[in-house]
Amino acid sequence: MPMADTQPGLIQQMLTELPPAFWIGGLALIGAMMGSFLNVVIYRLPRNCLSINKPSRSFCPACKTQLKARDNVPIFGWFLLGGKCRYCGAKFSIRYALVELLVALLFGFAAWKVLYAEGIQTTHLAAWITLAHVLLMITVLVPWALIDLDLHYIPDGLTFLPLALFVPLSANASTYQWGVAGFNPLMFGLQAQWLDSMLSAFTTGIAAMAFLWLMGRMGNLLFRKQAQKVGGDSMGWADVKIMLMLGVMLGWPKMIAAFFVAIALGALVGTIARVLRGTLGVPFGPFLAIGALAVMLFAPNFEAALNWYFNLLQGVAK
Ligand SMILES: [Zn+2]
Repeated sequence: MPMADTQPGLIQQMLTELPPAFWIGGLALIGAMMGSFLNVVIYRLPRNCLSINKPSRSFCPACKTQLKARDNVPIFGWFLLGGKCRYCGAKFSIRYALVELLVALLFGFAAWKVLYAEGIQTTHLAAWITLAHVLLMITVLVPWALIDLDLHYIPDGLTFLPLALFVPLSANASTYQWGVAGFNPLMFGLQAQWLDSMLSAFTTGIAAMAFLWLMGRMGNLLFRKQAQKVGGDSMGWADVKIMLMLGVMLGWPKMIAAFFVAIALGALVGTIARVLRGTLGVPFGPFLAIGALAVMLFAPNFEAALNWYFNLLQGVAK
């Protein structure tokens, strides 16, 4: 039964009657703080000697002095410091501030898109599960893309831990067809279907992983010379792992769409990089992350574009 049909309780009333600005602004603020935390994850997680929670405060990578709380304010901290360490003058990359801004914008946009833009009601429990799903995707995919970009490798903790969360959430991804509007809340309703869709999402992940691994093998055979130049493999192990997780996150129709977005973007950026700098080694992971978020956030728009395309094909066939 949809939640809207039941008599709203106090908490539900509070959730649904707060203005959009509260949720969009509030989540953007949480996003900025999450971005700050993700900067720590991006820096420390691949460096095995560093723990995520110790030291608890951020420190200067050059002189190791801990930053003051006021220098740690998301987005603005970097500007207040003028992009430099207060103690030794070492430069901080503007990327720290940009990551915080990006996650803030993505969180705010996701809140607007999922809760308001598609005309679904915040009274639907499904809307909130979907929002949680999208926010979790952002939280995992942003550090994923940036660590892959930096080091061409993904720590296992960033694959297998989120998997444990996304397998139950995947009921959401694979059952609501494209748009949020067509969603039936299965999570706490129809148990059998929930199990079924979890299995389906997991199978999608395995299939996507196997597919990319095969592509990589073929790529190595076809482009052996180029592959040797970039270190032996045209598709990295990190890319194979991200396919497993994306398959589980998205379910198969969106997974395929995300893959094609990634290929198109990767080809475009790869060509530009080759012309400008003569480099070949652009990691594929960041493009997959962008594709996945784009497809998840713009699912109804993708569906409309796909329908338009199929109608066009039918028109040509006649
Ligand atoms: Zn310093």
